Amino acid sequence: MEVDKPRVLLIYTGGTIGMMKDYKTGALRAFKFEYIYDRIPELSHLDCVIETVSFEKAIDSSDMNPQHWVDIAEMIEQHYDSYDGFVVLHGSDTMSYSASALSFMLEGLTKPVIFTGSQLPIGDLRTDAKENLITSIQLAGMKENGEAVIQEVCLYFEYKLYRGNRTTKINAEHFQAFASMNYPTLAESGVHLKVWKEYLLPRKRNATLKVWKEFDQDVAIIKLFPGITEVTLRAMLSIPTLKGVVLETFGSGNAPTQQWFLDVVKEAIDRGVHIVNVTQCSGGSVILGKYEASEALKRMGVIGGKDITSESAIVKLMIFLKKNISSKEFKIKYKESIAGEI
Ligand code: ASP
Repeated sequence: MEVDKPRVLLIYTGGTIGMMKDYKTGALRAFKFEYIYDRIPELSHLDCVIETVSFEKAIDSSDMNPQHWVDIAEMIEQHYDSYDGFVVLHGSDTMSYSASALSFMLEGLTKPVIFTGSQLPIGDLRTDAKENLITSIQLAGMKENGEAVIQEVCLYFEYKLYRGNRTTKINAEHFQAFASMNYPTLAESGVHLKVWKEYLLPRKRNATLKVWKEFDQDVAIIKLFPGITEVTLRAMLSIPTLKGVVLETFGSGNAPTQQWFLDVVKEAIDRGVHIVNVTQCSGGSVILGKYEASEALKRMGVIGGKDITSESAIVKLMIFLKKNISSKEFKIKYKESIAGEI
């Protein structure tokens, strides 16, 4: 009956989840992921076929970069037809960036891709890794009338499933390490595994997977703060190779109204740098022009990022800079949601 069971591919990239504690020395070290069944024998009770592939060298997610995103996407692409769903095991530190990236890269996705990880290693007595992994596998294998229930890139952590590109890591210690401030939870694990289907991206029929693989890394995130000087901002915005900036502003998109500030931003825009306005608040939306303090930015061509996270905004910028579109089209298209990120 093996053929009827959902098939789930675990893609192991690194991070705490794949480590175990050496109880003699207390040190954390990576274990061979092929031996995952020895670490979590409960996996054999799941009603699905689980297979694993790993990065050649497991990495701490602080070392993630766009090439790694392409590696993950290619693993999914190569195995797309042979599996019903994918679970990406990833360090939590930059998981929101990678989940955002994959959500934009996997165009026409009709299967679940669930990112997960853990705060404590799998071999730790109090680990959160087991629940995170087991439920992620269940979500990745979930089907209804022969179709995948979830057809998007998600992040599962501490009993909650979120849209990947809506998440932010909010805590370095708590098991509840992620939040999705501007979009509801997609599923929750309790006594029952409850999926709120109304919040999922609509199911796609007959879509074919197409993988985007190009990123322009000549970008920066600049966070404003009261007291930022002209010299500092000018130095950052005049980096010769700079093509795009996520400008983290105050509240609903507000920034200083002094002339020097406006001049420096305008000069960058005139040089062709795309500037996206994202709020540094963890929740809520940029509304350009709501206050006088953002009106001028709107007039000079700053792009309002609405309620996008900084993680999504920077990845989307890297992708859009590789699209062959005019500056005018860029400004219009960037504001449109492509994977539920806005
Ligand atoms: N430093 C680790 C990483 O992001 C933390 C974790 O796995 O949660 O790779």
